[in-house]
Amino acid sequence: MHSIAIDGPAGAGKSTIAKRVAKELGFIYVDTGAMYRAMALYFLRHGISGEDEEGVSEACDAIAVSLEYENGEQQVLLNGENVNALIRTEEVSMMTSDTSKYRVVREKLLSLQRELAKKKDVIMDGRDIGTCVLPEADLKVYLTASSSERARRRYKELQEKGTVCDFEKIEQDIIARDEQDMNREVSPLRQAEDAVLVDASDMAIEEVTEKIVTLYQDRQL
Ligand code: C5P
Repeated sequence: MHSIAIDGPAGAGKSTIAKRVAKELGFIYVDTGAMYRAMALYFLRHGISGEDEEGVSEACDAIAVSLEYENGEQQVLLNGENVNALIRTEEVSMMTSDTSKYRVVREKLLSLQRELAKKKDVIMDGRDIGTCVLPEADLKVYLTASSSERARRRYKELQEKGTVCDFEKIEQDIIARDEQDMNREVSPLRQAEDAVLVDASDMAIEEVTEKIVTLYQDRQL
């Protein structure tokens, strides 16, 4: 099986790019952030604080996360319920970052992620794919962009969905989330030693997609 790992900070365009690369190469796209988001939704629904490690740990036993594909689009199921449409709010984003720092949460999802990569050719995105989940990936990319550019993209995306939002707040949330993801003890976000750094601040989506496809193809020669 072949695999591509894409890591990087929030809003760098990982999912948009990974979906396109998956299509071009005939790979399955696995969005690992969605799995952490589904768990965060459970904690929010049950009134468990992101700072309550014991409460989070206890709740983990009652959570089952699984993935399905509908017309090629990943759907994340939380205890059998499709929660795809509920996990993209700013509230869930922050809760996800607060709770993904716990080992018990990460261990719950790690084996599921590795199993997926054993069965299919995958392009998987997240924070620790190249450093922890798929250390043997055929290609590792660390995709980043300036925080203002990432906030601008997120703002546009939310506006297009008709969500009222404040640009400053979005940028602050992105910076806070990256801080937390980069400085946690377990599987922090960092560029793997053998990852290719791609700064997409001034690159179009097509350009980044082609770069990654070419990098992958060159390695298969
Ligand atoms: O990629 P996305 O923005 O959906 O990820 C949401 C949050 O999930 C991240 O801010 C991070 O805290 C967590 N995450 C993680 N490890 C991954 C993927 C996501 O810790 N592999």
